[in-house]
Amino acid sequence: MNISYIGLGSNLGESENTLQLALDDMAAHPDIHHIKCSRFYRSRPVDSSGPDYVNAVARLETGLDSLSLLHFLQSLENKHGRERPYINAPRTLDLDILLFNREVNNSAELTLPHPRMHERAFVLLPLQELAPELVLQQGSLQALLEQCKDQGIALL
Ligand code: ADP
Ligand code: MG
Repeated sequence: MNISYIGLGSNLGESENTLQLALDDMAAHPDIHHIKCSRFYRSRPVDSSGPDYVNAVARLETGLDSLSLLHFLQSLENKHGRERPYINAPRTLDLDILLFNREVNNSAELTLPHPRMHERAFVLLPLQELAPELVLQQGSLQALLEQCKDQGIALL
């Protein structure tokens, strides 16, 4: 089984509800198992605009390879009305693969580990709930969180 961490985010529509529905959709996939989700957080947009985000991180186990998992997550984004009018636009649902085992991928479609996860409190804080001992290439979660503590984030 592969172990993957997924970043979930939404700042359009019924964000909390959308995240919960996306988790239900993941759990209904026959080859995705043992989903554990962090608590939900509220964060101010970082490189994006619009209303505050609702964010969470989920850990899952899957027999899918990383690209197949990405395609499944994109189908869920589309199902929940994701539109891409411009880069970093507000979104009903964003599902990013943060980590997939220890896979390093720099293909056109998929970058692993996720290239910006280490500088985003809305990823690091929920991730810390699920994997407190995790150390990224850039450092421990605790050290990285220290560097972005000015980012506004709170429990929902
Ligand atoms: P954002 O970067 O704001 O999350 P999108 O969700 O629109 O933007 O994703 C843009 C593209 O990012 C997708 O088409 C996908 O191929 C690519 N991508 C690269 N690496 C990843 C990853 N680790 N997780 C999700 N998407 C990724
Ligand atoms: Mg995305």
